[in-house]
Amino acid sequence: MERGSTQLTGVRARALTGLCATLLPAENGGPDPAGLSAALSDFLARQPAPVTGAAVGGALALEVCSLVSSGRVLSRRTAEERAALWRSLHGVGPVGLGLDGLKALVLLVHGSRAASALVAAAANAGPPPRPDAELRVTSSSHWPSWSRVDVAVVGSGAGGAVTARTLARAGMSVLVLEEGRRHGVEEFRSTAPLERFAGLYRDGGATAALGRPPVMLPVGRGVGGTTLVNSGTCYRTPEPVLERWRDQAGLDWADPSRFDAALDEVWEMLQVGAVPAAVMGRNGALALAGADTLGWRAGPLMRNAPGCGGCCQCAIGCPRNAKFGVHLNALPDACAAGAQILSDARVERVVVERGRATGVLARRRDGTLFTVRADAAVVVSAGATETPPLLRRSRLGGHPYLGRNLAVHPAVGVSGRFEEPVVAWQGVLQSAAVEEFHQSDGILIEATATPPGMGTMELPGVGPGLLRELEGAEHLASLGAMVADRPVGRVHGRRRPLLRYDLDRADGRRLVRAVGIMGRILFAAGATEVLTGIPAMPRVRSTDELDHAVALADPRRMHVAAFHPCGTAAAGADARRFPLRPDGALRGVERLWVMDASTLPGCAEVNPQVTIMAVALALSGRLAARLGASDAAGHDAPAVAATVQA
Ligand SMILES: Cc1cc2nc3c(=O)[nH]c(=O)nc-3n(C[C@H](O)[C@H](O)[C@H](O)COP(=O)(O)OP(=O)(O)OC[C@H]3O[C@@H](n4cnc5c(N)ncnc54)[C@H](O)[C@@H]3O)c2cc1C
Ligand code: SF4
Repeated sequence: MERGSTQLTGVRARALTGLCATLLPAENGGPDPAGLSAALSDFLARQPAPVTGAAVGGALALEVCSLVSSGRVLSRRTAEERAALWRSLHGVGPVGLGLDGLKALVLLVHGSRAASALVAAAANAGPPPRPDAELRVTSSSHWPSWSRVDVAVVGSGAGGAVTARTLARAGMSVLVLEEGRRHGVEEFRSTAPLERFAGLYRDGGATAALGRPPVMLPVGRGVGGTTLVNSGTCYRTPEPVLERWRDQAGLDWADPSRFDAALDEVWEMLQVGAVPAAVMGRNGALALAGADTLGWRAGPLMRNAPGCGGCCQCAIGCPRNAKFGVHLNALPDACAAGAQILSDARVERVVVERGRATGVLARRRDGTLFTVRADAAVVVSAGATETPPLLRRSRLGGHPYLGRNLAVHPAVGVSGRFEEPVVAWQGVLQSAAVEEFHQSDGILIEATATPPGMGTMELPGVGPGLLRELEGAEHLASLGAMVADRPVGRVHGRRRPLLRYDLDRADGRRLVRAVGIMGRILFAAGATEVLTGIPAMPRVRSTDELDHAVALADPRRMHVAAFHPCGTAAAGADARRFPLRPDGALRGVERLWVMDASTLPGCAEVNPQVTIMAVALALSGRLAARLGASDAAGHDAPAVAATVQA
């Protein structure tokens, strides 16, 4: 649960102010450092303790370095002196990565505050939003200490929502337990961007995998799961991936000829369509123009966002309800068929009696516990990072591969500066793809912007130089590349996940190659310079310089993020390698299934929401049949009790 919002005081507050003044000096037109520091302090209060500790510790260390090197605290030094200190420390081995983390935090808070009016105006422009869907959501604070259903589904994201839909339509009483709360469109239209960001993501967005390099790995939390904050990009699972899952994991349902039906149903439910040119925005158009000049295969992305107005806020909740997260389709379908959703309900463990899952023990926000008995099945859909710890807390973590096999689809970003303004935040957040290197090299490139003010974290420089970069931010176009990775990561932990991911060498080389490819696209589109994200050569002005930068790049020093964790409780035929049976049932216990990103045997190699939903659809259909219930048409009487007894 979140910690309260508290302001830091005394020496710690002064250190944060010094940090803000170093990065964005007021003397050169930067924001008032005390005000920015107060906002930063407020934001940090919503982060997990280790993040707050590292940020405050880093700021204190910077003050100490200033004192030691000059005998003066930061506030008594000039902007240039502060910037020089930063630059000298940045070159000291791993210190650079820590300073980059501090800078990212300060720029996120500053950018979000500065753009807050712009965000509000864009959120409220255009026709009235689609209303929120009819959902039967109850907060756990109003739920009794004991209740009984047929099926308890843990997690309301891509996997859990589709599972609940199938089972409710099959006539079972289904209760979806979700740790987060319900968010609505009016909230997205009226709340400041930083508040939205901190409220919609687990740990305020600070989830990261430790390793070389560390990987930022944000996941959503709320009714709708990560689909609340995702970009809405839709891909059908590539056939070679399905064939591999069929042949190497022994998953009969992954045969492309069978899986197609599930993909079709999800495609239709999500109302997928190509990004219209009218809302694509210049960021996507430049990516397409660059690819066209190079003769590379590219096109508008397919998305589940009918009526999208191109306000670029998908990552902090769509203010139009245009983006069809599962809170607008699978969950209302499930509720229409009788399912109920319990929000603010963190499942502490699955209850197991005589080798059978019989329900869940969950915690309300006030810390009190309650039990839900599930007569037919418990389905865990808590996502790839949360499912393994939950199973361990339930003493079901015995399989040696549970928590292993973590693939994340690692990503790097590159920006290009153009003479004309790009204003990347006017248009769809993720709008176009360059697929030339996808099948051949596993490199998928997507034109991806950020909500206004939230994309400045990667800008190079410090102090006066950084302020100049910020002034030119509207001239930048940005691309992101993801590589299909080996599943080398691991989710440790019981109470909360501890993620470890050491980038595979070959995947690292492909990420570096992707930087070169993206740089070429941007130059081909007319960029005058490219910001590479490569510390040794952050800025290049020609393809020759780009090649040089790529040759110098060390992937372990690059800023890597990931948005598609999967594989941590994988399904497969070989009992030694896969914690789940092919039908998603956890080995070693009865009546417990896992249906979420964990279930996938490996990286889907594309943005995975459609794949996760289609897998959940295929597996939950089998589960419904196994439990003896009818299909969606409701022909047969359900074999189990059909009402939630509360
Ligand atoms: C910023 C971002 C952008 C993305 N963009 C795209 C995109 O454009 N296209 C795409 O295909 N994919 C995208 N993704 C990924 C995609 O949204 C996820 O892969 C997908 O939602 C994962 O589904 P899931 O069911 O495994 O987990 P989630 O959707 O994350 O749902 C899990 C839910 O379980 C809840 N939960 C966890 N533990 C517990 C517990 N103990 N008790 C109760 N509830 C619990 C969580 O709060 C969460 O709501 C994006 C992801 C991110 C972070
Ligand atoms: S760009 Fe994203 S947030 Fe904006 S309307 Fe379209 S789907 Fe919604």
